[in-house]
Amino acid sequence: MSIADNLLKYKSELDQAGVQLIAVSKYQEADAILEAYNAGQSVFGENIVQEMVEKQAQLPADIAWHLIGHLQTNKVKYIAPFVKLIQSVDSLKLLIEINKQAAKNNRVIDCLLQIYIADEDTKFGLGFDEAIELLRSEEFAALKNIRITGIMGIASNNALEKQTRDEFTELKVLFDGIKASFFRKEDSFREVSMGMSGDYKLAIEAGSTMVRIGSNIFGKRKIKHYKADEN
Ligand SMILES: *Cc1c(COP(=O)(O)O)cnc(C)c1O
Repeated sequence: MSIADNLLKYKSELDQAGVQLIAVSKYQEADAILEAYNAGQSVFGENIVQEMVEKQAQLPADIAWHLIGHLQTNKVKYIAPFVKLIQSVDSLKLLIEINKQAAKNNRVIDCLLQIYIADEDTKFGLGFDEAIELLRSEEFAALKNIRITGIMGIASNNALEKQTRDEFTELKVLFDGIKASFFRKEDSFREVSMGMSGDYKLAIEAGSTMVRIGSNIFGKRKIKHYKADEN
């Protein structure tokens, strides 16, 4: 099936479930993104700053770009003018830098806190306690140019279905707790970003509001001009 066909299939399935589709276009050429765009998709996820910046300059201006990969503080400035949502905030230090760069650009940048739910030590993210501590801190309260609109998590790779389900459920329970404790009156705190090509159905059953699907739409990842930011 073509990219456009894949996309339309996902769009109708996800629209019915009331879940937003983030088309993960990392390592895909601009042409492939344009095909998806022309089929009606306008939200794309990238995990490398340089790749996102280059594609943003080349592609239609009304595309909403989500950063879904680890972000180094020294690179925030490159995406601050245009990024729609930073899904991968994993430290207060990073949030402070995003706030600073957002202020320089006279805007508020929406962010998700990336929460560590996988049973692996290779994934970035905040522990549950760290997320709560961040939200309670005075430094956080002082940030006026960022807005936390939810949380994001990546389940363990190749896990049994039960474990994946449990990880997604934990993330949803944490979301509900944070919502009740810190954002009860804020409608903008509403996103639980979880689910990828291999596990999006489980994520939706567990309460995902936003799934990030790459290979099932675009096929194999192609270009690898850039090294992922490893810190
Ligand atoms: C690559 C990536 C995805 C998409 O993965 P697929 O398995 O290709 O759907 C989703 N989320 C994050 C954070 C990713 O890095």
